Amino acid sequence: MVHRIMTRRTLEMLTFDNTYARLPQTFYAKLNPTPFGNPPYLIHANSVAAELLDLDLGQCTRPEFAHLFGGSALAPGMEPLAMLYSGHQFGVYVPQLGDGRAILLGEATNGRGERWDLHLKGAGLTPFSRDGDGRAVLRSTIREYLCCAAMQGLGIPTTQALCLVGSDEKVYREQIETGAMLVRMAPSHVRFGSFEVFYYRKQHENLKILADYVIAQHFPHLRGTDEQYARFFTEAVERTATLIAQWQAVGWAHGVMNTDNMSILGLTLDYGPYGFMDDYDAGFICNHSDHNGRYAFDQQPYIGLWNLSCLAQALLPLAEKEALKAGLDAYTPRFEQEYLRRMRDKLGLVAEKPEDDELIRDFLALLQDSQADYTIVFRELSAFSSVEGASNGKLRDHFLDRDRFDQWATRYRDRLRIEESDDRERQIRMDRVNPKYVLRNYLAQTAIEKAQQNDFSEIDRLFTLLRNPFTDQPGMEAYALPPPNWGKHLAVSCSS
Ligand code: AMP
Ligand code: MG
Repeated sequence: MVHRIMTRRTLEMLTFDNTYARLPQTFYAKLNPTPFGNPPYLIHANSVAAELLDLDLGQCTRPEFAHLFGGSALAPGMEPLAMLYSGHQFGVYVPQLGDGRAILLGEATNGRGERWDLHLKGAGLTPFSRDGDGRAVLRSTIREYLCCAAMQGLGIPTTQALCLVGSDEKVYREQIETGAMLVRMAPSHVRFGSFEVFYYRKQHENLKILADYVIAQHFPHLRGTDEQYARFFTEAVERTATLIAQWQAVGWAHGVMNTDNMSILGLTLDYGPYGFMDDYDAGFICNHSDHNGRYAFDQQPYIGLWNLSCLAQALLPLAEKEALKAGLDAYTPRFEQEYLRRMRDKLGLVAEKPEDDELIRDFLALLQDSQADYTIVFRELSAFSSVEGASNGKLRDHFLDRDRFDQWATRYRDRLRIEESDDRERQIRMDRVNPKYVLRNYLAQTAIEKAQQNDFSEIDRLFTLLRNPFTDQPGMEAYALPPPNWGKHLAVSCSS
C-alpha cells in the first residue's frame, strides 16, 4: 500500500518524451493544439487509464488537468505533432491522410518503463485537415470514450481513452453541435497507412527508418534477427487475425476498416460508426455511409486480410516477397483457430471436435432466421439444461422455428455429453465469456442526448457498467434488455 501511494504522481510529476518527433521531419508536422475559445472542463476521466500513467485519480478533477488534456496547456517534454500517413479508404488509395484533427502530445513514461502515446483528438486544424475543421463533436467523443471502456472490459485489444474534455465551442456538422476533446492512449499510433505513405512516395529510406523504429520500440525481440521485417509483418498478421476473431465473437463491427484505421499493434483503433449487433445479422452494416457493405460484419475477416496485403505490399522494398506471402498465408488459419476457440468457449465446449464448426454455424443461422438478439441468446445459452427431456423453454422462445431449435438443441446436448460436461460448471465458464452488457447503440445514444443537456451521469453509469460486462450488476437489469423500438437500427455515419 505504501508503495502504491509513493508511485502515484501529480500532474506536474508526469514525464513526457516524444521519440516520434526525433524521426525525420517528413514523418509529421510539429504544431500545438488549438485551444477552444472557452475554458475546457472535464466530463469524465478513466481511472484505469490514469493508473497506467501512475496518475492519482484526484488529479483529474484539477482545472489544470482539463487545461492540459483539453488543448489549452502543454507540459514540459511534450513535443506535439500531427502524424503523416496515407491509406486505402473503401478500397481506393488516398495518397495523403494524416492526423487531421488529432495531435500526438507526446509519450508519457510510467514507473514500469512503459511509454504511452497521448493523442489529443479534436485538437484543431493541422496541415492534414483537408476539408475538415480539426474538431471532434461531443457525440463522437462520447462514443469513442465508452466503446474503449467496453472493449477493455471485454478483454479486446484497444486504444484507451484517458479522458473526455468538454467546452462550449460550437462545431458545425449537419447541425450545430458542441466540440469536445478526447485523449487517446496507446503504446503506438502507427497504422498500416504510416508505411503505405512512404512506399507509394517511393521513399524507401523512410520506410526502413519507420520499420526500424517500430521494431525497436514495439517488437524488440525481432531486432537484428534474420528477416526481421518479414517477421514483424507476420506478428502484425497474427495480432490482426486475433483481434478480428475477437470482434466477430462478440458481435462487433468497426464500420470503417480503412488501412489508415488499422493499428500496427493489432489494437482496435479509431471508433467511428462502429456497432455492437442487437439482432444477429451476418450482413450487419453499422456505417450508414457504407452503401455497398464493404465493411459489413461478415466481411471483416476478409477485409483484415485485404488490409494486411496492402501492408505487405508496402513492405516489399524491405523483405522478400516469399516471406511476406508466407506471413499473409498465416492469416486465415490463425483467424479460424482464434475464432473457433472463442465460439467453442461461448458454447461452453472444452474439447475440440470436427463437428463443432457446423454446430456453431447452424446456431448462428438459427439466430439469423429468428432475428434473435446475439448477446442475450448467448448469455441465456449458459443456462441450457442438458437433462434428457428438458424443454429449455425460455431459450427456445427466442426462435421462430421451434422444431429446428429442438433439433439443434439435441445435437448440442449430445455434444455436451461427449465431453461429460457438467451444466453448473459450464454455466460459470460461459458467463465469463458471454457478456451480459454491451454498448448497444441506443445506450450510447441515451448518454449522448443527456450529455447534450449537460447531464453527464449516464456516461459515468455506462462506463462503470461496461468495465465489468460479465458480472450481473444489481439494479442494472434494464441495460441487459434488447433495445426499445426507437433504439433499433439507429443510423450512424462517418460524420463526426
Ligand atoms: P477517419 O474516418 O476518422 O479515420 O478519418 C479519416 C481522415 O479524415 C483522417 O485523416 C482524419 O484525420 C480526417 N478527419 C476526420 N474528421 C476530421 C475533421 N473534423 N477535421 C479534419 N480532419 C478530419
Ligand atoms: Mg482514422
